[in-house]
Amino acid sequence: MQFDPFVIPFNLGLYFILIYVVVRSVIWFRELSRQDKLRLQRGFFGSAFALSIKEIFLESLIHRKILKTNFRLGYMHMSLAFGWFLLIFFGTLEADIFGAKHLNAPYKAIFFRFFNPEHGRMGFEAAYGFLMDLILAFVLSGLLLAVSKRFFSRVVGMKKTTKLRLTDKIALTSLWLIFPSRLLAESFTCGAAGTGSFLTGSLGSVLASFLPAQQFAYPFWWLYSLSLGTFFILLPVTRYMHIPAELFLIFMRNSGIRTGNKAGAYTEVQAFSCSSCGICIDACQLNFSAGINTIQPAYMMKAIRNDEDVSDIAFNCLMCGRCDQKCPVGIELSPIRMIQRRGAEGENDYRNTYRGYFRKRESVAAEKSPVTQNYDFLKKTDPEKVDVVFFAGCMTHLTPAIKNSMLKILDASGVSYSFIDEHGGVCCGRPLMLAGQDKEARELINFNSEMIWKSGAHTLVTSCPICYKVFKESYYLDVEVLHHTQFIKMLIDEGDIKLKFLRKKVAYHSPCDLGRGSGVYDEPKEVLRHVTRLQETKFSDADSLCCGGSLGNMKISSGDKHKIARDAASLLTKDNPDILATACPLCKKTFSSASETKVADISEIVAEALSLNEVKKNSNKKSHIIKHVVNIS
Ligand code: SF4
Ligand code: SF4
Ligand code: SF4
Repeated sequence: MQFDPFVIPFNLGLYFILIYVVVRSVIWFRELSRQDKLRLQRGFFGSAFALSIKEIFLESLIHRKILKTNFRLGYMHMSLAFGWFLLIFFGTLEADIFGAKHLNAPYKAIFFRFFNPEHGRMGFEAAYGFLMDLILAFVLSGLLLAVSKRFFSRVVGMKKTTKLRLTDKIALTSLWLIFPSRLLAESFTCGAAGTGSFLTGSLGSVLASFLPAQQFAYPFWWLYSLSLGTFFILLPVTRYMHIPAELFLIFMRNSGIRTGNKAGAYTEVQAFSCSSCGICIDACQLNFSAGINTIQPAYMMKAIRNDEDVSDIAFNCLMCGRCDQKCPVGIELSPIRMIQRRGAEGENDYRNTYRGYFRKRESVAAEKSPVTQNYDFLKKTDPEKVDVVFFAGCMTHLTPAIKNSMLKILDASGVSYSFIDEHGGVCCGRPLMLAGQDKEARELINFNSEMIWKSGAHTLVTSCPICYKVFKESYYLDVEVLHHTQFIKMLIDEGDIKLKFLRKKVAYHSPCDLGRGSGVYDEPKEVLRHVTRLQETKFSDADSLCCGGSLGNMKISSGDKHKIARDAASLLTKDNPDILATACPLCKKTFSSASETKVADISEIVAEALSLNEVKKNSNKKSHIIKHVVNIS
């Protein structure tokens, strides 16, 4: 017996999904820019290929990253993905070794037991049957966890799982039916034939003892085939598209393709690669401190895939980057959110067609803002020639203690510097970028660039991490950009400032844009260790908490921001430090109104540790410190 009608649903589904994935990949490839196409081609024939295979094995099958952060959730994903892969792999070998002939159609491997009910009584055949039962048990253990997770998410250590649409529910039900129906179909067949191993054999003989096994087997073979076929056909319009999309994403990423500023094939692939695992929901402070749990990347990706309006979601985010760090698929979540913010202004976009099975690129002409921005009021100045330029930025101007501390440190160091925005400067441009107004931001960037360029400085120091990031990434300046913590560390290392030890216990809060955003983790802590007793917190480096004061969120209330700040401050000051130190004027302001503990910027702590004699000895003609005494005690 080589064929039975029940295999038709499986065959239809399988050939549909294979053709669909090939067509889809070709469309994605064609929509890449010329450079990205070249990158992908080079990657395919270069070392990126081997790297991608390794990553596919470790991440798409084993789910190593999830295993490391949440073992039960990782095991659930691994047993389903890796277990299913093993069933297919060893099933194909089984059909090839023990089947009537070699090189069989795929359905022979999937329904091997139906076509070979007598197989596996003894010897190697029995050992192989044991292996196949073992793999099936492995998959079923993961399925048990997955079903429990849907109803009691805490079973796998999750606080929240994502909500499902109707098609997702149907696909999920068919996925859940695949493995139990295989177990029952095989068990009834084995029960009738007296074969099978520890799982199918034992269950089969129990069932056959009180049921007509032969008659019961056939409907379950149909159910097995129907579940597979339904799952494959619905795969492209559900989150399960992440299975093939992630493979494509890994190749693209390892070939050097990055998100960029506009929607395109790469952002599409990323949106489809999201498995809705929900890890980003648990990581988000909007969720666990303010109870806002509908805007996290899991929902944004779902909305993009389903062609829903994402403008509310896009703007309701602190842009803190905690989710970027945690996403096990490595999707560039914040850059995608920025694209969506710009998209709200009108830009190239993709629209679903044919009920979501296909998407087509739509060129929407950028809508002109009804208000024309005019920056003619900005006064051009002729800055003095110096080595170092200090750019305070608007938040530092609003936090005079930081500004004064920086001037005290600069005076004490004896470097030739100018305070370039001393008399109220221009914003670095980031808030406009966060609002998706890149053109307006560019005007400010040009203005600041000209001023800095005219000063002839080789170093630009900022006391705001946001300015630091923007100057580094969005300006084209021929100067070294340093955050003040890096600059102070350099002054200490080169012996340009002498500091006394303050004997205070300090907990450090790493600002999002300085740490996760720009990778500056060590220098602030080294400076603090130099002058204080630094306490470790549970939320250090990439796991740092957002202060909640972010300029990135244009939707939440000040009450919700305060909740986030209070929560973060209390977690960071759990060990009762004397000072909660930060390295950002905005974080300082936010925490100051939410913490019982004294909050200070690192520059203030360093300024306090400077001896006044040192300052007087080194200060140049424009000594600012005498006017502003800094005291953090
Ligand atoms: S964005 Fe990443 S972390 Fe969030 S649900 Fe998707 S895959 Fe999981
Ligand atoms: S960037 Fe921060 S606030 Fe925004 S979704 Fe991610 S974790 Fe939440
Ligand atoms: S980044 Fe923020 S603090 Fe810095 S200048 Fe711009 S708006 Fe002001």
